Amino acid sequence: MRSVLVVGAGFAGAVFARTLAEAGYHITVIDKRHHIAGNAYDEVDATGTRVHVYGPHLFHTSNMGVVKWLSRFTEWLPYRHFVDALLPSGQLAPLPINKTTLERFFNVSLDGEGSVNNLLAAQAVGISNPANAAEYLNSRLGRELTDTFFRPYTKKMWDLDLEDLDASVVKRIPLRADDNRDYFPDDTFQGLPADGYTELFRRIFDHPSIEVHLNESFDRSREQFYDYTFNSMPIDEYFGFCEGDLPYRSIKFHTRIQDVGDETGASVLNFTDSGPYTRETYWRRLPGHAVKPSSVQPVTREEPCDYRDNNFERYYPVKRSDGASTLLYDKYKALAMEIEGRTAFIGRCGTYQYLDMHQVINQSLQKANKWLMERGEKVEANVN
Ligand SMILES: Cc1cc2nc3c(=O)[nH]c(=O)nc-3n(C[C@H](O)[C@H](O)[C@H](O)COP(=O)(O)OP(=O)(O)OC[C@H]3O[C@@H](n4cnc5c(N)ncnc54)[C@H](O)[C@@H]3O)c2cc1C
Repeated sequence: MRSVLVVGAGFAGAVFARTLAEAGYHITVIDKRHHIAGNAYDEVDATGTRVHVYGPHLFHTSNMGVVKWLSRFTEWLPYRHFVDALLPSGQLAPLPINKTTLERFFNVSLDGEGSVNNLLAAQAVGISNPANAAEYLNSRLGRELTDTFFRPYTKKMWDLDLEDLDASVVKRIPLRADDNRDYFPDDTFQGLPADGYTELFRRIFDHPSIEVHLNESFDRSREQFYDYTFNSMPIDEYFGFCEGDLPYRSIKFHTRIQDVGDETGASVLNFTDSGPYTRETYWRRLPGHAVKPSSVQPVTREEPCDYRDNNFERYYPVKRSDGASTLLYDKYKALAMEIEGRTAFIGRCGTYQYLDMHQVINQSLQKANKWLMERGEKVEANVN
């Protein structure tokens, strides 16, 4: 039987492993961590609460092909995500900014979309061709809102001033003139896997032609034993950092245990101050996450940092407005092309992109099916 090595047991690796196993390949999956599920890994802690160990993972998509594929392995708990921001006044207000946020921030009453748009127009600074995130936000929201909701967050999250951040990073942030507080309004499907992400992965890997080896780091000498390798490790690390390090941001997670209180609020609270933390998650407010009754609960705060200050945990590729990291990645991509006959790079760190779960799954389904078709295999048309 033809054999394939998959490096990384996150979503990218899992989709490749299952798709190729079902097409008749024998798959060996290795992951350097002690668990499957990559950054989507969750576990039930001592308080009986399901905690996502690498930060809250909310599944959202409009790609029903991805939902159909995942639904083979899980039931879903309906959930529409909403977030509160802690304002400098101490009040809570919806995030992304909507009509209620503006009313609380400016202490005014707005009677409809027209008055919201008038308020924003009065705040906006006239900049016709915004060159960076600061100019883009100032041109839409004005300085006061930009400097409260975006400047401290950007400094904490990216260690960058808004002037150094590409406008594309903030362009996807919605701004609402109504009271809609849906965090992912454009996505027709939102939900959480009923038994958690780790169980979802266990079922994806549960196939007679898939073997999973944990606590096992990739070593290039392994490739020779397989017909092909799909690799989700950081692409710069694979090539021994020969062109330099691709920059990443990371996050330190600080969990405290506190009494369970009013659990009807948002599961995620964002901080607008200039302290070190970006947000905190109240896990028991997510459906299905209060697995056992408890009088206490974990609450997890996130402190962004350079990945070198967090055990080289790479979470978010850093895209600067000068394009330097993209140019560096292009050099690694050129090296990858030279070996594409035997290895392909997949997933978030393999392709150096920030990708949500549904995007990784969709890309992986498409690429795995394309790879199979190039080898004359029959594939199921289940992706958009
Ligand atoms: C804090 C945070 C919050 C997020 N929230 C959301 C969200 O709400 N919704 C959403 O859709 N997406 C979210 N994401 C994105 C989501 O985590 C990714 O889309 C998904 O994890 C990408 O899967 P992957 O397989 O590419 O990478 P990963 O999940 O990172 O898996 C890669 C695996 O490769 C392994 N590996 C790396 N190097 C080696 C090596 N040398 N040898 C062996 N194994 C190796 C790693 O241990 C890891 O398990 C979030 C990401 C972060 C960081």
